[in-house]
Amino acid sequence: MSIDLTREQTAFAQAVASFCAKEAGTRAQRDALTEHGKHTHNQALYDKMAELGWLGAIISEEHGGAGGSTVDLCILLEESAKAMAPIGGIGPTLITGAAYEKFGTPTQKETVLGGIVAGRSYSISMSEPEAGSDVGNLSCRAEKTDTGWLINGQKTWCSNAHFADRILLVARTGRSGAGGATQGGRAGGKHEGLTMFDVPADVEGLNIVGIDTMGGKEVNDLYFTDCALPEDAVVGVEGQGWSQLMTGLNIERLILAAMMLGTAQRAFEDTLDFITQRKQFGRPVGTFQALRHRIADLATEIECGRLLVYHVARLVDENPTKLFPREASMAKLKLTETAKKVALEGMQMMGGYGYATEFDMEKHVRTTLVSSIYGGTNEIQRDIIGKTYGL
Ligand SMILES: Cc1cc2nc3c(=O)[nH]c(=O)nc-3n(C[C@H](O)[C@H](O)[C@H](O)COP(=O)(O)OP(=O)(O)OC[C@H]3O[C@@H](n4cnc5c(N)ncnc54)[C@H](O)[C@@H]3O)c2cc1C
Repeated sequence: MSIDLTREQTAFAQAVASFCAKEAGTRAQRDALTEHGKHTHNQALYDKMAELGWLGAIISEEHGGAGGSTVDLCILLEESAKAMAPIGGIGPTLITGAAYEKFGTPTQKETVLGGIVAGRSYSISMSEPEAGSDVGNLSCRAEKTDTGWLINGQKTWCSNAHFADRILLVARTGRSGAGGATQGGRAGGKHEGLTMFDVPADVEGLNIVGIDTMGGKEVNDLYFTDCALPEDAVVGVEGQGWSQLMTGLNIERLILAAMMLGTAQRAFEDTLDFITQRKQFGRPVGTFQALRHRIADLATEIECGRLLVYHVARLVDENPTKLFPREASMAKLKLTETAKKVALEGMQMMGGYGYATEFDMEKHVRTTLVSSIYGGTNEIQRDIIGKTYGL
């Protein structure tokens, strides 16, 4: 790492790297942990990380965590992604946990934050078939009943719902319906009347159906049919779901950026390794200027990305209640685009071997391709950044 870390943070990074190398360092180990790439998450491995106290890196001490900083969190995510540790539950879980930390009742916090520390996984469900980038247009409804709430509607693209304990659902409770007024593409009536709910993944009336993707078993459709939730299932304030969501965007975008930083670094190292050994025309292919210059460009891009991630993490640590829409979106945009570029360039520089499943590069390509889609597409990130310049 080229950034300034404290001695404890450096030791933490080394500990995560060496644990992951020991547990999931070889292709054979990762194949065994994921059933040859079918699954993104291995619970036994995740449990071991929980026992080490790492999953609570950013959870307050009151809830059993280490009470660490956003920088600590980025170290954990960067190093575990670099090691390709199959712990796909971690990103959505920490994103979800941040919302409970801010808005949950004491009981909800105890369950979810304590659960994160103990190795449980959680999901967040906003997207719907007709509400993707325009997520405020969602129409899954929660109706008040005498005993609580009744949920009806479909959600989609919910990461990890098939193994999560609970799902943080965003549903419509107010009268401002889907398709409500927008002015110049900015927030309008449709963003009112949204509410967050704490949903046990095994609740009656919820059907979770996997979606086939290039990434294995990772995302799901959720079908709610007269799904009854108790009155105290609301997370935060009824009708304030949109503004609550907005306060979590800093951390969501940073989490995704830090993971892609690790993946970019790994794709870079795998490429370098290969082109140093692979010989054509009697010399390592990496010594041809056409490849050497690309390596120089990619290394420079990754270093820029690393500085940005840790800069934004420090901004958040210095001012945890402030939103950094420009900086957080820049981090998500920059690191996902960099990771995608490194993986695609890596595949090209490895020739046919980059395309073969025997090597990890094709996995890096699949992992990075989707990173500019989830968590708000990169078109939307550019829009957010542009708006901060008054456009
Ligand atoms: C692997 C994966 C995991 C996911 N996990 C979750 C999850 O856990 N929870 C959850 O709620 N959602 C999740 N999502 C959903 C994700 O957030 C959406 O896919 C994303 O927001 C885009 O929505 P969409 O797919 O409907 O595309 P659309 O919104 O239909 O967009 C299609 C294209 O149009 C572009 N576009 C749309 N509007 C604009 C605009 N105003 N300006 C410029 N371009 C625009 C988009 O950038 C994109 O290129 C996940 C998605 C994937 C693929």
